[in-house]
Amino acid sequence: MIEEIREFNKSFVKDEKYQSYITSKYPDKKLAILTCMDTRLTELLPAALGLKNGDVKLIKNAGGVISNPFGSVVRSLLIAVYELGVETILVIGHTDCGVQHMDSRAMIESMKQRGVSQEAIDMIHYCGIDFEKWLSGFDDVNTSVQETVELLKHHPLIPEDVQIGGFVMDSTTGELLEVE
Ligand SMILES: [Zn+2]
Repeated sequence: MIEEIREFNKSFVKDEKYQSYITSKYPDKKLAILTCMDTRLTELLPAALGLKNGDVKLIKNAGGVISNPFGSVVRSLLIAVYELGVETILVIGHTDCGVQHMDSRAMIESMKQRGVSQEAIDMIHYCGIDFEKWLSGFDDVNTSVQETVELLKHHPLIPEDVQIGGFVMDSTTGELLEVE
C-alpha cells in the first residue's frame, strides 16, 4: 500500500494536480470542525457542507470526541482560535458511528491476542490510567455531541465570542441534524 501511494504521489506532483488546491493556512470560513475519522465522511462531510480546501480546520478522531479537556483536540482548537482566526466551532457526530457501543474489554482481549502482555496492561493501570474508560465508546451519539459542545462552551480557555454548534450527520445522505 505504501508503495502504491508513493507512486500515485509522484505523478500527482509531476502533473501539477495540486494547482486547484493551493490556498493558505488561514481558514477562509473562519471555521473549525471536530468530527469522526469514519471513512464515509472523508469526502461526504466537506461536500455536504459546501466546504473546499482552505475553508476549515478539520480535526478528526474516533467518534469526534474530547477525551481530555487539556488534550490534543482542545489544543488544536485553541490554536485554530488564537492563531488562525477561527470564530465558529462545529462538533459533528454521525449515524452508525463505530465508536457507539464500543466495548473496551473486547479491545483489550484483541490486544492480548495480538501479543500485548497482561504485564503491559497491568503497568498501564498501575500508572493510574483508566484504560477501560479511555477505550470505551459512547451509548448515544446525540448525548456525546451535546457533552462535547457543553465542554467547549464552558472551557476556561475558549473565549465567549466563539460560536459553538453541535450536529449529527447522516452517514449516507450527509443530512445535518441539529443536536438540541
Ligand atoms: Zn464515527
